[in-house]
Amino acid sequence: MLWTKTLIPTLREPPAEAEILSHKLLLRAGLIRKLAGGVYTFLPLGLRVLHKVEQIVREEMDHAGAIEVLMPALHPKEIWEQSGRAESARNVLFKVRDSANRDWFLSPTAEEVITVVAAGEINSYRQLPKNFYQISVKFRDEIRPRFGLMRAREFIMKDAYSFDVSDEAATTSYQKMYGAYERIFSRCGLKTFAVEADTGIMGGKYSHEFMVPAETGEDQVVFCEGCGYAANLEKATSGIPRTATREVGAAIEKFATPGVLTIEALTKAPYSVPANRQIKTLVYIADSKPVIILIRGDDQLNETKFMAKIGTVAARPATVEEIVPLLGARPGSLGAVAKVPADVKVFADERLRGANDMTTGANEDGFHLKNVSIERDIKVTEWFDLRTVTAGEPCARCGQASKIRRAIEVGHVYKLGTKFSEPLGASFLDESGARKPAIMGCYGIGVTRTVQAVIEQCNDKDGVIWPLSVAPYRVCITPLSVDPNSEAMKLAEKIYAELTACGVDVILDDRDERPGVKFKDADLVGFPIRVAIGEKSLAKGEVEIKPRGGALQFVKIEAAVEAVMKLAGENQRPA
Ligand code: ATP
Ligand code: MG
Repeated sequence: MLWTKTLIPTLREPPAEAEILSHKLLLRAGLIRKLAGGVYTFLPLGLRVLHKVEQIVREEMDHAGAIEVLMPALHPKEIWEQSGRAESARNVLFKVRDSANRDWFLSPTAEEVITVVAAGEINSYRQLPKNFYQISVKFRDEIRPRFGLMRAREFIMKDAYSFDVSDEAATTSYQKMYGAYERIFSRCGLKTFAVEADTGIMGGKYSHEFMVPAETGEDQVVFCEGCGYAANLEKATSGIPRTATREVGAAIEKFATPGVLTIEALTKAPYSVPANRQIKTLVYIADSKPVIILIRGDDQLNETKFMAKIGTVAARPATVEEIVPLLGARPGSLGAVAKVPADVKVFADERLRGANDMTTGANEDGFHLKNVSIERDIKVTEWFDLRTVTAGEPCARCGQASKIRRAIEVGHVYKLGTKFSEPLGASFLDESGARKPAIMGCYGIGVTRTVQAVIEQCNDKDGVIWPLSVAPYRVCITPLSVDPNSEAMKLAEKIYAELTACGVDVILDDRDERPGVKFKDADLVGFPIRVAIGEKSLAKGEVEIKPRGGALQFVKIEAAVEAVMKLAGENQRPA
């Protein structure tokens, strides 16, 4: 490709819209342009990278035995109602109304569609296992689209769906995908690690996320260097000890706490109740019903864990207007000892089990209760691990101090069980002729997010450093004169033609610009190999070859193509 024939609108300065480095570089290197919040156009170089990532994904999916299909982006509302997700996924669904007033959703994922296909086409255990995948555009009405391709409203995802005869067979399918993901990300030049994760609106049984460590990542991961435990903070547990029990005896005592509305305020004189001797009482509306959550004063509720434990995808903190008629007091004086309506469930964090000599709100504005013994004085419906792990806590498995780091989720594998196959009728006849629902798994890769994650991980002060495997072009040839009659340009064209004939993707910078400008652009875009041809080196019968981020080498003209080929490597899938 000739630089002047394509479109590479590099920018000296990043547009104000970009907050994180990879987003700035995507824009500065001329890979994408914004149309609207979370909606982007891929310019020629960005599209080349995207195609290369897609190709790696495709090769590894095919290699793992998955078969490619293409499903519609327009989904009739009814299939989402049948699976129960029209409600649970409501917040992310883009809705479209047709001229006959029928509602459609723009696909944020495709479990429903593929399960309808399987329901129609799979009938016997002999047809299983099957794993279908597609690489296609997805739409999600994200509340906060940001960071460019990282959290977009329209993006490209690879989604795969496996159908198996048994749990055991489904585990094999899951493991195959897990292995394929490791190969995909490593071939893209990404360092990733897998963590245990929450299942969210997929509602499955079990899942792992593939994470790229990055300070700018939206996820937090708890990990242990001792035993390798790693889990998303939304799911992580720790081996933190329970609250120390003290001698029981004293009966509950009510005391006035005028103006005390926070845990912190109660720790101060004249009350001086340490946060770890307080019970924090939270009221949530879960699936439209109020519930009470008890957590120790110095702990934080983990909403995702809570929702997963009680099996809901729709929960939110209750408003003051909802709380007052329920408990007879305002936030700051809430508790679960008295005045809790019989039909309101009380969920307590494990760390409170057995705790006594605790202080909590009295459900009377301006009053608290002390000497509360949770198991004696509060009717707890169910105990769960509901708190958010903090750095340094002992690992749940081995006890070593765990750490927390930020990361970007690029892929997610889930075990779904029969969550979709039952309601949508994807069943098969087993060997004995009995009808059974297929056991499913689903597997997503954010393809466009992966493109940006590579940039987030591979860069320096001058720009992107593309891994060879996904570089827009592997080689950039920069003649220092573009006069068609100059020696430099003639040689540049010759090397360009030879490399092209060898199947190396190469771009020739034929712009009539100063060398400094061209070198800066080549570094900014991040071509892995730069070949410079200038009068000085030509006079010595040499060209300059410089791997991006590596040392400059002077190579004899006759040996130039071979030297570049050595650096540019193979295009093929590694064995
Ligand atoms: P997140 O927690 O980041 O919202 P998710 O759990 O909703 O992700 P999945 O439903 O598992 O994501 O989707 C599969 C993959 O699609 C994710 O691992 C991620 O790489 C990508 N993805 C999800 N949402 C977006 C988005 N808004 N923009 C770009 N990529 C996305
Ligand atoms: Mg999401």
